Amino acid sequence: MVYKIEKISRPKFDRVYKKSMRELSSFFRINWNQNPPKLILVPDRKTIDFLKGEKTEEWVIGWASKGNVYLLDDKNFEKESNHKYSDKEYFALIKHELAHCFSSVVSNSSGKPIWLLEGISIYLSGQDKLKTRPKKLTKFIDFFDKSGKGVYLESGFAVAFLVKKYGEKKLLHLLKASKEAMSKKSFAKLFRSIYGFELSYKNFKIA
Ligand SMILES: [Zn+2]
Repeated sequence: MVYKIEKISRPKFDRVYKKSMRELSSFFRINWNQNPPKLILVPDRKTIDFLKGEKTEEWVIGWASKGNVYLLDDKNFEKESNHKYSDKEYFALIKHELAHCFSSVVSNSSGKPIWLLEGISIYLSGQDKLKTRPKKLTKFIDFFDKSGKGVYLESGFAVAFLVKKYGEKKLLHLLKASKEAMSKKSFAKLFRSIYGFELSYKNFKIA
């Protein structure tokens, strides 16, 4: 199959990339001097499916893989996904996927819990501000090693709560140590040892 992928060379994305990299470097305490992530535009759904090796859902518009960020081309955004295009949301998407690259370095490619990784990307990209705030959290913890649309509804608010109430350092500690937690149960134990309280919905008072 022939497909065209294009390295992003649009000035407006370049600015967002640089600003995002600066802010993320500061949050994650990483100076990414060598081989920083590249942004790669993917033209259409067919190419997304080809690159990911599976039939993807209409809402899948970007992902990070092996230190690079893949994004559905903004020019084909509405045609090839069920999202409405806006610069604001696209810029946040760029930052969301870049944040995954940083999380992956800090956690040594832990890959889980999914809710923690998605939550960090949503919180740092400001996407939580574009979402409806749930009254309470009831499902994010279930997304440990499985993904799905549901993880995007709550995890950003869970991470925002942890950062605002207990600071960035603890969150980075949790992220770094997550590699050692092989199961949902051992992650819950790790969480408790770092935060001093149970990983349960009632302890996330987001309202
Ligand atoms: Zn994500």
